[in-house]
Amino acid sequence: MRLDDIRRSSNIEDRRGGGGGGSSGGGGGPRLPLRGRGGIAMIVVVLLLVFFGGGDTMGTLMSILGAGSGPSSQSGGFQADTTSPKGLDQPANSSRGEAETADRVAAVLGSNEDFWTAHFAKNGATYTPATLVLFDNQTSSPCGTASASTGPFYCPSDKKIYLDMSFFEEMDRGLGAKGDFAQAYVIAHEVAHHVQDVTGILPKASRAMRQQGQSKGADSISVRLELQADCYAGLWAGQSNITAALESGDIEEALGAASAVGDDRLQKRAQGFAVPDSFTHGTSAQRMTWFKKGLGSGDLRGCDTFSARDL
Ligand SMILES: [Zn+2]
Repeated sequence: MRLDDIRRSSNIEDRRGGGGGGSSGGGGGPRLPLRGRGGIAMIVVVLLLVFFGGGDTMGTLMSILGAGSGPSSQSGGFQADTTSPKGLDQPANSSRGEAETADRVAAVLGSNEDFWTAHFAKNGATYTPATLVLFDNQTSSPCGTASASTGPFYCPSDKKIYLDMSFFEEMDRGLGAKGDFAQAYVIAHEVAHHVQDVTGILPKASRAMRQQGQSKGADSISVRLELQADCYAGLWAGQSNITAALESGDIEEALGAASAVGDDRLQKRAQGFAVPDSFTHGTSAQRMTWFKKGLGSGDLRGCDTFSARDL
């Protein structure tokens, strides 16, 4: 992506550096042992199970349903203010890379905001953007504690996306999802959950899941919600000011990320086999398919996973 001409979002709450960041007061909690060398494998395993496989919005919903374990809905946050204090355990040589990542997050968020603002306006509505909380180590949210192990998530209770600064690194090394546009896809996917929230899709799906218990399974409401978020991310990639800023290989990076976080792939990595009945986000193939549908459709109606017979 070439982000020079892209507006940076100011809807970023920077909780990096161990600060509490806001009213929650839990941001400066104890350091997770996961940060050590030996913790990498553990992070990966947890990510496989929790991050796109139940760690974001659906994780939250499942927690509400009592089907999930632990904190579940987080997404990454970022801060445009690159002069903010760094945590004491922050390697000195990572500051520059971190500042670049933070700037990229602000640009991707800004582009998503402009896209959805225009889309809502076209339909006579006003888009209220989500806030993105950028943190390191861990921080609290109404949806539970956000940490490196929970992965990015959207919390409907406070309408915030929670993003751990180290997540992209883990995504790159642990899941093999490399590249700046792989990261952009993750952010766009979380913003999409916010769009589902403010348009009433998420609350409705949440209610239906509570009543019908369809929080997991290959054909579940959960999978349909997640694939729709992938489709919305594709819509943004193909219809926003980011479209002209894409470089060769960017779309492949997003597809690579979508594939890397498919339920089947994650489960096979974690346990050697996939169990469709426990799917919450869709397979690698489905996630790529729906991202591409959004990319090509140019219309929200192309993302109606709820009436689709074949996912
Ligand atoms: Zn999701």
